[in-house]
Amino acid sequence: MDFLRPASWEEALAAKAEHPTAVPIAGGTDVMVEINFDHRRPEYLLDLNRIGELTEWQVEQDHVRLGASVPYSAIMEHLRAELPGLALASHTVASPQIRNRGGVGGNLGTASPAGDAHPALLAAGAEVEAESVRGTRMIPIDDFYTGVKRNALAPDELIRAVRITKADGPQQYSKVGTRNAMVIAVCAFGLALHPETRTVRTGIGSAAPTPVRAKAAEDFLNAALDEGGFWESGRIITPSVAKQFAELASGACNPIDDVRGTAKYRRHAVGIMARRTLGWTWEQYRGAGRTLEGAA
Ligand SMILES: Cc1cc2nc3c(=O)[nH]c(=O)nc-3n(C[C@H](O)[C@H](O)[C@H](O)COP(=O)(O)OP(=O)(O)OC[C@H]3O[C@@H](n4cnc5c(N)ncnc54)[C@H](O)[C@@H]3O)c2cc1C
Repeated sequence: MDFLRPASWEEALAAKAEHPTAVPIAGGTDVMVEINFDHRRPEYLLDLNRIGELTEWQVEQDHVRLGASVPYSAIMEHLRAELPGLALASHTVASPQIRNRGGVGGNLGTASPAGDAHPALLAAGAEVEAESVRGTRMIPIDDFYTGVKRNALAPDELIRAVRITKADGPQQYSKVGTRNAMVIAVCAFGLALHPETRTVRTGIGSAAPTPVRAKAAEDFLNAALDEGGFWESGRIITPSVAKQFAELASGACNPIDDVRGTAKYRRHAVGIMARRTLGWTWEQYRGAGRTLEGAA
């Protein structure tokens, strides 16, 4: 196995163009597990750890440009206000050691349906900045996941950063696991209120071949909130609306039975998490951060 150690982003892109089968390694918390268990024996490893810019982020007007290798611990510490859903999801990843090494670029590279960043990215709205020697392209997060542990990157492309929409309202992340820490999700749910556009977005983890949004649930809720004037009044969402939202979220799942849980349980739990995260975020919206003009 050859170890390629580019000193700059340009050198990394050139190396990936020359060796498209080279496996990038950032925190190594997925790659090294695969190598140690002999699930993967790449001809080349492409070490991205000398490229400082990958661990940096910029807070722009309406989005955060998060370098691919920014570790979860930095997101939790520095970007809680801008990316609350992703910060909450980061909290649930593994242990402090893994959170100091692993990051969103690696989560996207692996594209496991159980990856914790995905529901938060789907709910917030994000684009993956993919680059090769041929140029840069922005991949909408909805188009990024193409199958079980498959993504939309071309063989010569690397993830440089992820552009995530800055929160303009409350966000939540809920995860079911077999214990409280060091656990891969049985299933997970992310929800973001976007008061500026009067919309709600969602993300489901570990309950379909890829991370997915509960689009029918979003459409239903967006129409119900709009028609009922909920955004303006800040009224409590009626139980029937919350129930229907939960049922539609549950219906968006296409889960399997596996060692972590049954398909039936996953569908059920996603419905519960959808209702709860809606309740939590709506209570936050009704409280601080919302203009109370016209509130009931
Ligand atoms: C004990 C343990 C517990 C874990 N628990 C969780 C958990 O609770 N939740 C969770 O979501 N994950 C968990 N993981 C998995 C892992 O930590 C995460 O997926 C993490 O985000 C991977 O990031 P990394 O930087 O370590 O990626 P790496 O292992 O370096 O890379 C992962 C994949 O992404 C590719 N890649 C990395 N960077 C780039 C780039 N810039 N461009 C293109 N491709 C790239 C790599 O080639 C590889 O295919 C756990 C892992 C371990 C070992």
